[in-house]
Amino acid sequence: RLYNEVQDLKGSIRVYCRIRPFLRGQNGKQTTIEYIGEDGELGIVNPSKQGKDGHRLFKFNKVYGPAATQAEVFSDTQPLVRSVLDGYNVCIFAYGQTGSGKTYTMTGPNAASKEEWGVNYRALSDLFEITQSRRSSFMYEVGVQMVEIYNEQVRDLLSSDSFMCFGVKSFVFLNLHTLGILTTSQPHGLAVPDATMLPVKSTSDVMELMDIGLKNRSVGATAMNERSSRSHSIVTIHARGTDLKTGASLRGSLHLVDLAGSERVDRSEVTGDRLREAQHINKSLSALGDVIFALAQKSSHVPYRNSKLTQVLQSSLGGQAKTLMFVQLNPDVNSFSETASTLKFAERVS
Ligand code: ADP
Ligand code: MG
Repeated sequence: RLYNEVQDLKGSIRVYCRIRPFLRGQNGKQTTIEYIGEDGELGIVNPSKQGKDGHRLFKFNKVYGPAATQAEVFSDTQPLVRSVLDGYNVCIFAYGQTGSGKTYTMTGPNAASKEEWGVNYRALSDLFEITQSRRSSFMYEVGVQMVEIYNEQVRDLLSSDSFMCFGVKSFVFLNLHTLGILTTSQPHGLAVPDATMLPVKSTSDVMELMDIGLKNRSVGATAMNERSSRSHSIVTIHARGTDLKTGASLRGSLHLVDLAGSERVDRSEVTGDRLREAQHINKSLSALGDVIFALAQKSSHVPYRNSKLTQVLQSSLGGQAKTLMFVQLNPDVNSFSETASTLKFAERVS
């Protein structure tokens, strides 16, 4: 076995790897995953290479195999989420090819099933549990923004204009009014000050908003899955806490990011819009890689300005911020080359 040590993660960037199970109809014997160790080790095998050259070992902060539950994954994420209430900026994102489980990890397959909730619903309900607790000597205000980045354009998924698109779903529109729109005059901590920020008091408020945001995301797109794999979606939670004794206040934020699919598009086969999308995705994902690489190297220049994605996430990448990347893998042998390229990305930023 060839050891390919990824050095231990420095500073505030951590990388968790998650391997999706085989789906029904797939042949589970043909896997690229050879070994999952307890200390975050992952062995993969290249199906087209014989001998020891075909084997590589990676090391992450954590590795979750196909049987890992959403609750297990969240338990290792919770401390990071809670630090938002201490005034930290936190960024959690999922990277991987389309179908590797990014949305499963971040959102989950079904909002109605609490067991299957992904990181974002769990994070929010955890935060509300703390902020609503009577024992807390802080009073917290929580606001949510939701944007999508598509072809280097930032789109507000919670703007009242886009609610209008629903027409038939006017109940959604009514809920918007009961929640109210918070217009903030203080841009502090707001990467996208023009994006609608809505105050929320409970997980169900947030779930309603996310539902609206997801619907807005698909407006104008021919097929939602198609679109969602080619744009980045960012849910941002802003928390402001006021110490009830001293009046001092602090602010923290949490960015929850479901990135566009990282798969390489064969340039010879695509043209027009599809090619442009692919180029934008490529550019923004490599800009994200460059930023995290610069941070891991403690470089004095961090190239945030190279993409909209890194500009929006700037406050939660670097400095005092805490960053967690989920590296998502599809174990299928047919995905080997994408798996290898995802691991290459992870290796570089680790
Ligand atoms: P992506 O967002 O990366 O394109 P998805 O999250 O949509 O991928 O996952 C693709 C499919 O695999 C979905 O049907 C999803 O429910 C399923 N899936 C992904 N990860 C898991 C998991 N850990 N356990 C069970 N099913 C999963
Ligand atoms: Mg997805």
